[in-house]
Amino acid sequence: MSCVHCGLCLAACPTYLETGDENLSPRGRIYLMRHLQSGRAALNEPAVRALDSCLGCFGCQTACPANVRYGELLEHTRDHIEHRFKRPVLEWLWRRGFIEQVFPHPWRLKLALTPLKLIRQLGLEPALPSFVRRMTALVPADCRAVPMPVNSPTSTAVKKGRVGFIEGCVQRVMFGPTNAACMRLLNRAGFDVVTPPGQSCCGALYSHSGQLDQARQCARRNIATFENLGLDFIVIGASGCGGALKDYGRLLQDDPAWADRARAFAAKVRDLVELLPADLVESRAGNRESRITYHDACHLRHAQGIYQQPRALLQALCGSDFVELPESDLCCGSAGSYNLTQPAMSARLQQRKIGNILKTGATTVVTTNPGCMLQMRAGLAAAGRPDIEVTHLADFLDHALPRPPVRPPPLATALTQKQFSWRQPRP
Ligand code: SF4
Ligand code: SF4
Repeated sequence: MSCVHCGLCLAACPTYLETGDENLSPRGRIYLMRHLQSGRAALNEPAVRALDSCLGCFGCQTACPANVRYGELLEHTRDHIEHRFKRPVLEWLWRRGFIEQVFPHPWRLKLALTPLKLIRQLGLEPALPSFVRRMTALVPADCRAVPMPVNSPTSTAVKKGRVGFIEGCVQRVMFGPTNAACMRLLNRAGFDVVTPPGQSCCGALYSHSGQLDQARQCARRNIATFENLGLDFIVIGASGCGGALKDYGRLLQDDPAWADRARAFAAKVRDLVELLPADLVESRAGNRESRITYHDACHLRHAQGIYQQPRALLQALCGSDFVELPESDLCCGSAGSYNLTQPAMSARLQQRKIGNILKTGATTVVTTNPGCMLQMRAGLAAAGRPDIEVTHLADFLDHALPRPPVRPPPLATALTQKQFSWRQPRP
């Protein structure tokens, strides 16, 4: 009810910018939600499609002067839809039977990628049907997991604290080296890093697709895993998950047994970049041999309000080689599983993003979310520019910094250290 229809959010909405259709704008969707709630609009196909086409990017929420909490409205409306609207069987199977059964489970995702690796080794990918190729193009050739040690102590003279590290479902399967880079950066910044086994999906995929009960289950499991480890912070290197983790207090606010525990957990959550000191990198002038630009992942910029820290680090490290990306805060079309459920709009936004990247003349695009990396890499490859590198901020910083000397862990630690397991124990 706090929406005053001013329309200031329209220019921040990717689907409105692409279509000019008020029904596909935040203002139109809020109006529709209000009518669905009051029973003045029927929960029919056009209404559901208008809400399905929303990216959940939070761009409108950042732009809104009336403090409309659009993300919460969308989450609850989608939950309402999934409990009352009957989707076509194939679409239901795709969403419930594949996306939600595979992506939040790292070992299943790893298993699902095995045939693709074989197909690629045999050179058979071009023979796949085009709609399958559109999806397989998102999977990087070099995706791999890296076993994370349970304990990774810092070797700096001044210790700043002890952090728990959340690996992220897609990030741990496809970008294992990025998680290892996050861990090294945290160690370098003075933090002992603990990566406990048994951690769950953050729940973002469920809450964005109208499965709030499953999202709450994920939250409870993560809280139970991390709460008794004596941690100062809980850190994530995948910013798509960070927004969901910081929202656990609200997600479980109506559960008396978990509400306080959820608030305590959420208060400790930080994105990696929030714990990296500004003097982590030495200032450089730039050599004009490369051009570096930065894409704001929606859930870092809009859901968490973080955009200055990554730029400050990149500007210090790259000097005049850093260039701003036009529309850097506009969604690239990845948006969790959006590129799998809404491929047409996702492709339009991908092309828009790639057009903006090409305008900068960048040789490297830095970002903070695995979904954005997959989307932009696939878009650049399709545009004939696979030479433009898309990399995670953690990898970029880690690569630029000299490696500290590796010290063997104390014998006692080495003997008690458990190794990472793909198969997660049941809650
Ligand atoms: S959501 Fe906010 S910005 Fe958009 S029309 Fe409503 S009040 Fe205005
Ligand atoms: S969340 Fe993003 S796509 Fe959805 S209405 Fe807001 S700005 Fe538009």
